[in-house]
Amino acid sequence: MQTKQYNQTCSGEAMKTLEQATNGNETNSLYRLLPSIGDLLLTQPFAAMLQSHSHDAVVQAARAVLRRMKEQVTAGKYTHASLTHRLDSLDSDIAAELIQNASYSLRRVINATGVVLHTNLGRSPLSQAAIDHIAEVAKGYSNLELDLESGERSRRDVHAESLLLRLLNLKSGTQEDTPSRRAIVVNNCAAATFLALHSIAEDAEVIISRGELVEIGGGFRIPEILAKSGARLREVGTTNRTRLADYENAITPETGLVLRVHQSNFSMEGFTERPALSDLISLCKSHGVPFFDDQGTGLVMPLDELGIRAEPTLTGSYSLGSDLMAASGDKLLGGPQCGLLIGRADLIERIRKNPLFRAFRVDKLTYAALEATLMDYLLGRQNAIPIMRLLHIPPAELAERCKRLVNQITSAELSAEVVPALSLIGGGTAPSARLDSWAIALRHAAVQPQSLLFALRQLNPPIIARISEERLLLDLRTVEPEFDSSLPSLLTQAARSSVGAREPGAS
Ligand SMILES: *Cc1c(COP(=O)(O)O)cnc(C)c1O
Repeated sequence: MQTKQYNQTCSGEAMKTLEQATNGNETNSLYRLLPSIGDLLLTQPFAAMLQSHSHDAVVQAARAVLRRMKEQVTAGKYTHASLTHRLDSLDSDIAAELIQNASYSLRRVINATGVVLHTNLGRSPLSQAAIDHIAEVAKGYSNLELDLESGERSRRDVHAESLLLRLLNLKSGTQEDTPSRRAIVVNNCAAATFLALHSIAEDAEVIISRGELVEIGGGFRIPEILAKSGARLREVGTTNRTRLADYENAITPETGLVLRVHQSNFSMEGFTERPALSDLISLCKSHGVPFFDDQGTGLVMPLDELGIRAEPTLTGSYSLGSDLMAASGDKLLGGPQCGLLIGRADLIERIRKNPLFRAFRVDKLTYAALEATLMDYLLGRQNAIPIMRLLHIPPAELAERCKRLVNQITSAELSAEVVPALSLIGGGTAPSARLDSWAIALRHAAVQPQSLLFALRQLNPPIIARISEERLLLDLRTVEPEFDSSLPSLLTQAARSSVGAREPGAS
């Protein structure tokens, strides 16, 4: 074996090493066992690596592996014998490092959590039309900011605006011949909310119920966003009850707007009260104060069919005449990450004129995906939008898939059974709603569910599952059927690798 070559050239050193070790200077001598990059590159395995990888890439990989080994030597992890043994596999370690260096950090994963809108897993998958439109627009130049009719420069937001307004008019049965409302798109709903407050209510009071001073995931806190926007918080009511009169009594010439925030990620039960959206909108209209609805989910059609009642829709807020609305593009709308701002033409114009709008604007790929998603709705292809399809899969279909897959799991170490499960919508939507689903429950003959969970994440593609009652659950609602054919062998592979694998979190 050629790999041994540098060991041999090191053997003189190694002899010295032994002497020094007995002199209590073992670590120093172990360093000398580590080959130099130059020597390494001359050995046969590296000649092979250099055939398929650039010189720089091989050197970088070799340096990284040697650096880690050196750190382990410093940490006292090796004896002379164990390091010599370890160096035998140096070339394969470096080859593995090369492959690792050439693979993406952001990867497709299999979501078996049953959480349909999982923020950690990228929220909504995109429709085929959205993917195709992104690819088409990305491939070449586009009319992003060019009016093809006049040949003049135009605004990038025209692309989504007309589709969005057409969709809202269609689904709400509103007829607006001369559109009195406009729409713009920013990075996400958090940016949309901030920009709206900053543009409309800087140095003015924003009236909000104490029940809506919420935190919406990842440190987005309404009071902090309000403070940053330069608006002054005017809280009314109590945590559990706020009445229309509370709002009315707080309206003064200082009022910049009235803000309603969808209490999306928690539910309140019991002695609670909140004015109807329509009453709040009428109140604001009669006082000439703009009403801003941070609607959040972007839901187009109600979810009553799923037994989820009273989940507010963007369409509903639009038809009731909210002056301004903000919503996420990648929650229940099922599109790309973005923030939609829809509202009165004069308010949208003020937001557009805000210099910060430029800092929050989105790129052509987002417009492409958003436009295609909106078109799916407009053309009645709601089922082509993955989020809508996943939410509406009949439980019987999931049970059928589970049974088929369980029969294909041949691993002797795994016991698998089909069990009822409850999927969550997630993404801060209808937190108390549960969707009937079916899952594959796995138990390993020898290892804890935690270890199996870890092994599943190390697969390619990684499988993200959850543990319930000491077993691993794979809820099939969120697993795309395209993975069904590879799932049994992936599970077998994880069952095998979880035996004797390091425990998650262990070093
Ligand atoms: C999710 C949500 C936000 C934040 O939206 P992002 O698109 O994640 O920035 C803001 N407000 C409400 C009501 C939400 O539900």
